[in-house]
Amino acid sequence: MGRRVRLAAARSGRKPSAVTVVAVTKKFSANRIRDGYDAGLRSFGENYVQEFERKRPLLGDLEGASYHLIGHLQSNKVKAALDLFQVIETVDSAKLLRRLDALAGECGVMVEAMLEVKLAEEENKTGASVEELPALAEAAAGCKHANVTGLMTVPPWSEDGERSRPYFRKLAELGRQFGFTKLSMGMSGDFEVAIEEGATTIRLGTALFGPRPKPTAASTSVET
Ligand SMILES: *Cc1c(COP(=O)(O)O)cnc(C)c1O
Repeated sequence: MGRRVRLAAARSGRKPSAVTVVAVTKKFSANRIRDGYDAGLRSFGENYVQEFERKRPLLGDLEGASYHLIGHLQSNKVKAALDLFQVIETVDSAKLLRRLDALAGECGVMVEAMLEVKLAEEENKTGASVEELPALAEAAAGCKHANVTGLMTVPPWSEDGERSRPYFRKLAELGRQFGFTKLSMGMSGDFEVAIEEGATTIRLGTALFGPRPKPTAASTSVET
């Protein structure tokens, strides 16, 4: 994996150290996070606040680990998310951003945030539209406790990672336009393309850990 990241960086004249790998551990147990930590990973991505609430107490000793929320954040989970995550990658409305900033202030913490942008018309997908970005950027400029550092996107799924390239290119362009330096883009199927297009954060699940455990009908809980 490290080799593929290095090669993709080299192809685009970038330093591999400019790319942070977020290990996506949704549906995997706390022990898999621990294994990843032992293998040298320090950033972990989780999709569900409630799922990570169960795992987090088992990871107290992983010093220097940083946890990213990469799934949709409901406004009634913001407080809980602030207790669990250092980076919220999925802020998709000015209202949610203001709430995050206000609650971080109440809790006396700083939180890093990214704006999730939806670049294709897809139902059932979250993310702000490009048209909403100016209002979001303005809200970001007014935040005192939420530090908005970048943009995040999940392009339409395809077996061919090359299909993601126009979306990654567009996100990079929006980042430049609005002055956000970080770009969280690229998953197991398209991270090399994302690095070529300027990703600073790639989110890898199956490429690192293999297929995710499928919940059985009897249980929707996580692997233990
Ligand atoms: C699950 C998930 C990933 C990781 O997907 P893989 O294809 O397993 O690498 C990355 N980003 C988001 C937002 C996800 O939900």
